[in-house]
Amino acid sequence: MESKEVNKDEKKTVFALMKWASDSLNLAGIEDSAFESRDIMMFVLDCSMPELLIKKSQILDEISIARFKKIVKKRMTHYPLQYILGSTGFMGFDFKCREGVLIPRFDTENLVVEALERTKSRKTITALDLCCGTGCIGISYELLRSEAGHDDDQVTCADISDFAIGLAKENVEKLNASVDIVQSDLFTQFEDTSFDLIMSNPPYIPTREIFKLMKDVRDFEPHLALDGDQDGLKFYRQIIDEAPDHLNKNGYLVLEIGYDQATAVENLMHRAGFSQIVCKKDLNGLDRVVSGKLM
Ligand code: GLN
Repeated sequence: MESKEVNKDEKKTVFALMKWASDSLNLAGIEDSAFESRDIMMFVLDCSMPELLIKKSQILDEISIARFKKIVKKRMTHYPLQYILGSTGFMGFDFKCREGVLIPRFDTENLVVEALERTKSRKTITALDLCCGTGCIGISYELLRSEAGHDDDQVTCADISDFAIGLAKENVEKLNASVDIVQSDLFTQFEDTSFDLIMSNPPYIPTREIFKLMKDVRDFEPHLALDGDQDGLKFYRQIIDEAPDHLNKNGYLVLEIGYDQATAVENLMHRAGFSQIVCKKDLNGLDRVVSGKLM
């Protein structure tokens, strides 16, 4: 009798539950199942990684077990973990995220790094993040420039989506950033405004490729933020075509691109009069960011 009780309790330890979660997620086809199991437990226990290590042999109370299992089961349907947990890290900051808005990607950090690099000698900057989603690009650019002593910049984030605008505003407040949020279909609200820097991670997946994306993305993230029309280049054409009217002299345009879009986007920039056009690769060695200068 006693040994059975012990056995039952063993299944309720933080460690055993994490093992169960990791195996279940793995079976459901979730790649980083061990990491995700750990993140879910840290979320349920509201604790840091070192605290989790200390708690690993503890027996979890029934309410927390139920909460933990509910999250794991939801994640097994491939519903994105970032939406469940309500936030994700980007450039060292914690951005709120929720359904209806594209989840910030690690790869997009390359865009922010490139924008920071190209503008580092500028004392002050006016910048626009078009198709901002959560606001992760514009907000982290402003926060990092500010940390580096450039605290007179004027940064604006814009998006067409109500969901994105609402969330970007929440992120500005959460991170105490000095960034304006404007609802705009590309440049429509900026008719007479120009900037020193325009950054964008527009929708760039060709429509017919959307069904090939991971289930997590395809079934749960907004297609409005992914679908770049027939060839995926619709928004690059529009942005690159109109950017010269909204860039100051010696201004920069910095764009995230799909792995096979570098040549097409470079050509569009060339034709629009940009020079010093460069393409940077991501950590997987894939083309990821194209940027250029308008002299
Ligand atoms: N990189 C994203 C993905 O593959 C797409 C982002 C975008 O369309 N801007 O899911």
